[in-house]
Amino acid sequence: MELISGAPSGPLAEKWDRHKFEMKLVNPANKRKFSVIVVGSGLAGGSAAAALGELGYRVQCFCFQDSPRRAHSIAAQGGINAAKNYQNDGDSIQRLFYDTVKGGDFRAREANVYRLAQISVNIIDQCVAQGVPFAREYGGLLANRSFGGAQVSRTFYARGQTGQQLLLGAYQALERQIGAGTVEMHPRTEMLDLVVVDGRARGIVTRHLVTGRIETHLADAVILATGGYGNVFYLSTNAKGCNVTATWRAHRRGAAFANPCFTQIHPTCIPVSGDYQSKLTLMSESLRNDGRVWVPKQRGDHRPPNEIPDAERDYYLERKYPSYGNLCPRDIASRAAKEACDDGRGVGETGLGVYLDFRDAIQRLGEGRIRERYGNLFEMYQRITDEDPYKVPMRIFPAVHYTMGGLWVDYNLMSTIPGLHVLGEANFSDHGANRLGASALMHGLADGYFVIPYTIGNYLASQPLPPVAPDHPEVRAVEEAVRARTSRLLAIKGNRTADSFHRELGRLMWDKCGMARDAAGLKEALARIPSLREEFWKNLTVPGSGEELNQGLERAGRVADFLEFAELMCLDALHREESCGGHFRTEYQTPDGEARRDDEHFTYVAAWEYQGEGKPARLHKEPLVFENVHLSTRSYK
Ligand SMILES: Cc1cc2nc3c(=O)[nH]c(=O)nc-3n(C[C@H](O)[C@H](O)[C@H](O)COP(=O)(O)OP(=O)(O)OC[C@H]3O[C@@H](n4cnc5c(N)ncnc54)[C@H](O)[C@@H]3O)c2cc1C
Repeated sequence: MELISGAPSGPLAEKWDRHKFEMKLVNPANKRKFSVIVVGSGLAGGSAAAALGELGYRVQCFCFQDSPRRAHSIAAQGGINAAKNYQNDGDSIQRLFYDTVKGGDFRAREANVYRLAQISVNIIDQCVAQGVPFAREYGGLLANRSFGGAQVSRTFYARGQTGQQLLLGAYQALERQIGAGTVEMHPRTEMLDLVVVDGRARGIVTRHLVTGRIETHLADAVILATGGYGNVFYLSTNAKGCNVTATWRAHRRGAAFANPCFTQIHPTCIPVSGDYQSKLTLMSESLRNDGRVWVPKQRGDHRPPNEIPDAERDYYLERKYPSYGNLCPRDIASRAAKEACDDGRGVGETGLGVYLDFRDAIQRLGEGRIRERYGNLFEMYQRITDEDPYKVPMRIFPAVHYTMGGLWVDYNLMSTIPGLHVLGEANFSDHGANRLGASALMHGLADGYFVIPYTIGNYLASQPLPPVAPDHPEVRAVEEAVRARTSRLLAIKGNRTADSFHRELGRLMWDKCGMARDAAGLKEALARIPSLREEFWKNLTVPGSGEELNQGLERAGRVADFLEFAELMCLDALHREESCGGHFRTEYQTPDGEARRDDEHFTYVAAWEYQGEGKPARLHKEPLVFENVHLSTRSYK
C-alpha cells in the first residue's frame, strides 16, 4: 500500500487554485453518463449529493434515518468557523490555517488545512444564499462569536442550532435535486459492505431497515460521508445511531484507517448520572464565551456554589492559561477538568463535575442578553438537570464528542481504494490530533460543496470505467457475505443483548483508551477486546428476524464492527509513544502536566492496512512536512 498525498507543490496559497486548473473536467453533456453513490446525507454527504446532482451527475444517496434531515449534523449547536474577518479583529485565511494546524498539535497535512481555511469564506456565502438564518449584528452584518483555540471571533452561528439550520440549507439543495431527478434518495437503507471490482470501488451492498431487503447498488464511484465513530465508547454526545460500520467495512476491503486513536473529549457536557444512561448531552463550547469554569479551592468543599466566595474559587483555566482563559482548546480544557476532579475538587454527587458559571456575565450584560445568546441551551440544561443555570452554575464534565481519525484520504479526498472518496468526519484529513470547535461543520461543507465536485470529476475523467454487471462474481460474493453475516447474527440465540456488549466495550475504551492512556492499560484492553468479541459471537441474542424492522439486528451489526475497530484504536494509541492533542499518554507529559510531543519520531499520519481476521493491522506512515509553520510547543498560556 502506498500513501501518496498528492498535495500539489508550490506556494501554499496557490496550491488549490492551481490544482483545480490542472485537474481534468467532465464536460457538461457527459456528466449524466456517470453515476455516483453517496453514503450519508449529513452536512458532508448532503452537500456533496446536492452539488453533484446540480452538476448533472446521476447520484444515489443513502442514509439510515427516515429522512436526510435527521442526520447527526442536526445536533451541532455552537457554530461554524470562517475567515471573513467581519469583526476586523485580525483574522485572515493564514490565521485560521495556523490556528487549525496548531490546534491539531501539528499532526495534520498543511495543504489540506490551508484549503479548508480558504474555502471557509465561500461556505458562508453559499449558506447565506440558501437562506440559513445566521445571527446578525444590528447593522445587518453577520455576527460572530469566539470559540476555543482562537483569539479572534470567527464563528458564525444560528443561536444554539447552527447544525440544524445548515442541514436544512443542504437538505433544501438536496431536495431540489431529488425533485429534478438527478439524485435518487434511499432513506432507511444501511450500507453493510463495499463492492470493489478490479481494484476500484464500484458499489455498495445495503440492507433496507424496514423490509430487510439486501441489495447491491453499482456506480462509477463511491463517496462515504458516514460520520464519526465516537460511539465506540458507548456513551458520547453523538446521536445513538452513529457508527463505524461503513468505514470499517471499507477498511476491511482495503481502505487504510488513519489515526484511529485521535478522539476528542469535549470539556462541557452534562455529567453522567447513572449506570443505565445511554447518551450524553453536549453543552456548546460557545457557552465558554461568557461562562467561567471553576472548582472550589478546597477539597471536599460541598457548600452550594453560590455560598462559595470568589476568594475560595479556583478559576483554573484563567489561572493556568491567562491568554486564552476559558477559551483554551478542548483537549486542554478537558484534561484540566480531569486534573481538578482527580485532585478531589470535583463537584456534584459523583465528584466528576466542574462549574460553568454565568453569574458575572449576567451581572455585566443582563439576563436578557444571555437568554438571547444561549436561551435554547439553558433550557435544555434545565430540562435535563432540573437546575436553573440563570441562578446556579451549570455542572459539566468532559465526554467523548468527535473523532479526528478516519479513513485515510489524499488531497483529492480519495482513499487507498481508487474510486472510494471519503468526506466529513468520516475522513481523517483536517484536524490532526485535536479539532478546534466550529471546525467540523466547516470541514464537512468544504468537502461536500467545494472539494469533491472538482476532484471526483478528475477521477471520472481520468480512466475508463467499464460497466460492472450485477452478476459479476465479486458483486455476488460481497452480497453473499452480507447475507451470511446477517444470518449468523440472528442464529446465535445466546443470552446477552448487543447493547450489553456495547456498554462493556465502551466502559473498557473509556477507562483504557479515553482521556488518559498508558501502555499497561492499552495492553490490557488489547487482551480483553478479543475475548469480549468471542463471547459476542457465542452469546449474543437478537430477537426477531431479518425480514422486518429489527433494531436489535441493526445494533448487533454495528456493535460487531465496533468490537473489531476498538482493537485498532488501542493498537494505534499504543504505538504512538507521545502525547498530542486528544491523545494523552500519561507516560509522555511535561512536568506541569501538558502533552509532550515527540516530533522526531511521530510527525506522521499513522495509516493502518487491514491484514485479515485475527491478524494485526499493518502500519504505514505518511510523513507530515511543515514548510509554512514552525513546529512549536503548543502553548495557550
Ligand atoms: C452534540 C454535538 C454538537 C456539535 N456541535 C458542533 C458545532 O457547533 N460546530 C461544529 O463545527 N461541529 C459540531 N459538532 C460536530 C459536527 O456536528 C459533526 O462532526 C458533523 O456534523 C459530521 O457531519 P458528517 O456529515 O460528516 O456526518 P453525520 O452528520 O454524522 O452524517 C452521517 C450520515 O451518514 C449516514 N450513515 C452512517 N452510516 C451509514 C451506513 N452504514 N449506511 C447508510 N448511511 C449511513 C447517516 O444516516 C447520516 O446521513 C457537534 C457534534 C455533536 C455531537
